[in-house]
Amino acid sequence: MKAPFGYRSDGKGKVMVPHETFAPIAKAALEGYASGHFQTHGEVRTFIEDHPDFKVGRKKPRVGNNFVKNLLSRSIYAGYFDYAPWGVPVTKGKHQPLISLETHKKIQDRLNQRVTAPFRKDIALDFPLRGFILCADCGSPLTSYWATNRKKVRYPYYECHKKGCASHRKAIPREKLEIEFEECLDQLQPSADIVVAARAMLKDMWDARRAHLAERRKSLTVDARKIEAEIESFLDRIVETTNPSIVSAYEKRVTHLQRQLAILEEQKANLDEKQPPFEDLFEHTIEILSTPCDIWRKRDIRWKRLVLKSVFAERLPYSRSEGLRTAKTTFAFKALSAPKGADEILVPPHGLEPRTY
Ligand SMILES: [Zn+2]
Repeated sequence: MKAPFGYRSDGKGKVMVPHETFAPIAKAALEGYASGHFQTHGEVRTFIEDHPDFKVGRKKPRVGNNFVKNLLSRSIYAGYFDYAPWGVPVTKGKHQPLISLETHKKIQDRLNQRVTAPFRKDIALDFPLRGFILCADCGSPLTSYWATNRKKVRYPYYECHKKGCASHRKAIPREKLEIEFEECLDQLQPSADIVVAARAMLKDMWDARRAHLAERRKSLTVDARKIEAEIESFLDRIVETTNPSIVSAYEKRVTHLQRQLAILEEQKANLDEKQPPFEDLFEHTIEILSTPCDIWRKRDIRWKRLVLKSVFAERLPYSRSEGLRTAKTTFAFKALSAPKGADEILVPPHGLEPRTY
């Protein structure tokens, strides 16, 4: 197996080691992307190709097509063996990591975001509904822009950008759309005691999940003990055995068991990360659910985006003639505004996490 960029082989059968020249470049590229210093694959590629040390150490001055994609997605840089096409951490490797697992996860999050919507900070600040409202004629998300008239006065608009759509480039004044949207939010305001009920419900679900995780942790511990005992007994047998072929069979078995044990330990460690405190998970949600309009009117763009994610299950279609279509709200909000059968409440359609748009 060829060592990935940033590493080199240290001889046959040995653990690979960080490459003296390339490891610092790979590390800087990865951390730069995780922190947002590099915004695109192209910027990472330029950084690497223009790096003076990179040029000295390589025959070819440019990197291949999938080079940056592989660099960013592989968990091998966080110290794991991965299945390269998926970048899925499989088991902890013996090699020295270049970045922390946290940095690796940050990179994966950024990669996933990129697929859904390129975030344009400048204009998004002025148009909180950009990307969230769909054109009712064609279903594509409305974009937004500032238009300037002859007197140099600027006016904000939303519009459909899809070629061939009946609403293509038909400007919708920002005011008009946003006032309608606020009216829609106003109608969704639930009463205070329903918010209390929702809080209790979310707490129940959270407790149930915690109990389930504790159960799972217990059973993983039991499994791990069993494997440890089995390893122990094989090691004893190896000591007592003189027949070399039997010894080698036992050793194979021990290696196999140790691998299983490592996987169990990993799963246990992952379980601990899976349950953030209730407050972290739901306090924002509950606050948003109880007063979505207030938060929408008074707070900044980040809160506005949270309102969109927490309240609506889907993006809203807007028709130039008929206005906003009926909103599909998230399960929690549905439970707040119109409590139904217990089953429906306990089986959220999208899980508990707010959706991303
Ligand atoms: Zn359209």
